[in-house]
Amino acid sequence: MEEIKRCAICGVPIAREGETDWYKYIRVKYCPVCREDVHRQQKAASKRRTRQAVRKAKKEARARVIAAKAENDQLRALLRENRQMAWMLDRETKEEAHV
Ligand SMILES: [Zn+2]
Repeated sequence: MEEIKRCAICGVPIAREGETDWYKYIRVKYCPVCREDVHRQQKAASKRRTRQAVRKAKKEARARVIAAKAENDQLRALLRENRQMAWMLDRETKEEAHV
């Protein structure tokens, strides 16, 4: 029995097993009209995924900047405390030396 392949979307016959070369036969899935639609949708989906990935990457980069700024602020505060402590210890040492 001869196999007739039909468009996966609209069902029109698109290939006959005996007529078309085998590679073309297993490869073909849609009629020309539906193929155009499918390709357009695939392209749109691909663009959408790319846009989402870019948005996500930007969002993550912004979060990293915010986290780095917070860490920077904490480190500055620590540095300020340490300098103050060092200054106080230095002064105490000098005062003790004078006694
Ligand atoms: Zn079709």
